[in-house]
Amino acid sequence: MNRRYRKTIIAGNWKMNNTLSQMKAFADEIRPIMPKSKACTVVLCVPATNIQAAARMFKDCHIAIGAENCHYEDHGAFTGEVTTEMIKEAGAKYVIIGHSERRMYYNETDFAINKKVIAALKTELIPIVCVGESLEQRELGVTMEHIAYQVKCAFANVPADDARKVVIAYEPIWAIGTGRTATAEQAGEVCEGIRAVIRKIYGAHVARSVTIQYGGSMNARNAAELLMQPDVDGGLIGGASLKPADFVEIINAANQE
Ligand code: PEP
Repeated sequence: MNRRYRKTIIAGNWKMNNTLSQMKAFADEIRPIMPKSKACTVVLCVPATNIQAAARMFKDCHIAIGAENCHYEDHGAFTGEVTTEMIKEAGAKYVIIGHSERRMYYNETDFAINKKVIAALKTELIPIVCVGESLEQRELGVTMEHIAYQVKCAFANVPADDARKVVIAYEPIWAIGTGRTATAEQAGEVCEGIRAVIRKIYGAHVARSVTIQYGGSMNARNAAELLMQPDVDGGLIGGASLKPADFVEIINAANQE
């Protein structure tokens, strides 16, 4: 973390979990245990049907709301999709773009992801862009080449003033939902590499202000060590964000200096 230049952001990704009533139970449980410190920004990315209620429910505990996906067009015949404007009006401030589950199960390409980043920025939503390598790519030794390509595509045609608002989540695919976390050194090395790619495109000023999260089985036990890496500015958390006490422990780790 380096709070001098950029925000530390802990974001939960609920995926396809929690109905409205389950979300209310979560809010009732987390409200009394939410830390008072505002050192890190806390976000919950929730199913689209929950956004509007979530924005109201979590306001008093200073948790901002995000969507888990968006379309890049601003209207049209795209059954089942939602626009960035719809998400924004519902109360979201963030949107996850290019999660590996969307790349894998819905064939999302880097080109579509770039269009989504541009659409989100145009609507003044903060994109959380997910990048990460498969186990095969890591074993072949092409992790950084693959991630550099994903980062370059995500930022294509994004002006510098907007680029500094983008959050990148480094999520090794082999670590998502597997309980197998990257070591702090592996996470730190790739996050440093991502910042170097951004530096090459936009220069040092923009690069040092971009928040780069780690995601992949981050939990209450390993968060502090991962967050000690200078280029790891927070976390994108799946499983552990479904349990209020675990999520709060991760927030506490991120609030430490
Ligand atoms: C994720 O879904 O982005 C994620 C990191 O999940 P988990 O924390 O469960 O590995």
